[in-house]
Amino acid sequence: MLQDSFGRVATDLRVSLTDRCNLRCSYCMPPEGLEWLPKPNLLTADEIVRLVTIAVERLGVTEVRYTGGEPLLRRELVDIVARTAALRPTPQVSLTTNGIGLSRLAASLAAAGLHRVNVSLDTLDRATFAKLAHRDRLPDVLEGLSAAETAGLRPVKVNTVLMRGFNEHEAVPLLRYCLDRGYELRFIEQMPLDAQHGWRRENMITADEILAMLRTAFDLVEDDPVERGSAPAELFLVDGGPARVGVIGSVTRPFCGACDRVRITADGQVRNCLFATDESDLRAAMRSGASDDELAERWRAAVRIKKAGHGIDDPAFLQPSRPMSAIGG
Ligand code: SAM
Ligand code: SF4
Repeated sequence: MLQDSFGRVATDLRVSLTDRCNLRCSYCMPPEGLEWLPKPNLLTADEIVRLVTIAVERLGVTEVRYTGGEPLLRRELVDIVARTAALRPTPQVSLTTNGIGLSRLAASLAAAGLHRVNVSLDTLDRATFAKLAHRDRLPDVLEGLSAAETAGLRPVKVNTVLMRGFNEHEAVPLLRYCLDRGYELRFIEQMPLDAQHGWRRENMITADEILAMLRTAFDLVEDDPVERGSAPAELFLVDGGPARVGVIGSVTRPFCGACDRVRITADGQVRNCLFATDESDLRAAMRSGASDDELAERWRAAVRIKKAGHGIDDPAFLQPSRPMSAIGG
């Protein structure tokens, strides 16, 4: 098991397949992009599958989510998903993506054993999309979403970050769009994880604000909290249900006490938290001949020292030097 000193057990593994991306969402990356990780530092597909196998077979991981950067840019993605879905005990296999290219790949991913997909969608307005993501790709994202639905990757989940001055007025239209198509929408509070360190608490649209905006148009009743388990979204039944909307108050309503996540970066570092300031290098260990037992032990040790919380409200809080795109969101 991957257990920390506070008794939390990590069963949900997020693996970044690349730090590269074809968008430049303002809350994540600067418009000019970033200096990408050198190719030799990236884990190969075989190395990724080896680590995921150790996690599932020896460390009690039950859910594997591939992310990035943009995971659809990784050419071996379908193969990696197929090899993950073939593990025993079978983990839940999911993908977080910006949706660009999903219209081409959704059917093969579903056939390879992918269970679910989260597509990020912050706006329904093409000009706002181009301003927020610095690329004019909204039609590709919407096509990707509908391809995921057609391929049976249900329920299709949608992630939205609202930003003041960009898309804050779109909470209601986005929820309406998702309800009409049977997608499950989650709003995520913007976190201090952008490469350009532009996050300001006073600019963040809070969970309370999001709920107030939604309640101008919908009746929201908190869903059974038992069902929420360790999932970070507070779920609300919309207009009596069964449709639901989630609000992830990572900053104002932190869920660190119930966190069950652990991450592997695209260059093979274990991170026990999005906001961790240190990492454990499994790539170097693997490439210098470590056995599966040794890798598993290193991994356990990295999780054991996980901190109690992210500490964003602590005056001494330091934003991690790796941005979200390089950690794997
Ligand atoms: N490129 C893929 C995508 O956008 O879905 C996967 C990686 S992205 C880093 C994963 C998720 O993190 C996305 O839903 C994105 O909206 C979210 N995200 C990125 N930066 C964030 C920030 N500063 N605060 C909150 N969420 C953020
Ligand atoms: Fe790319 Fe995802 Fe970051 Fe947007 S949030 S820039 S799509 S990695």
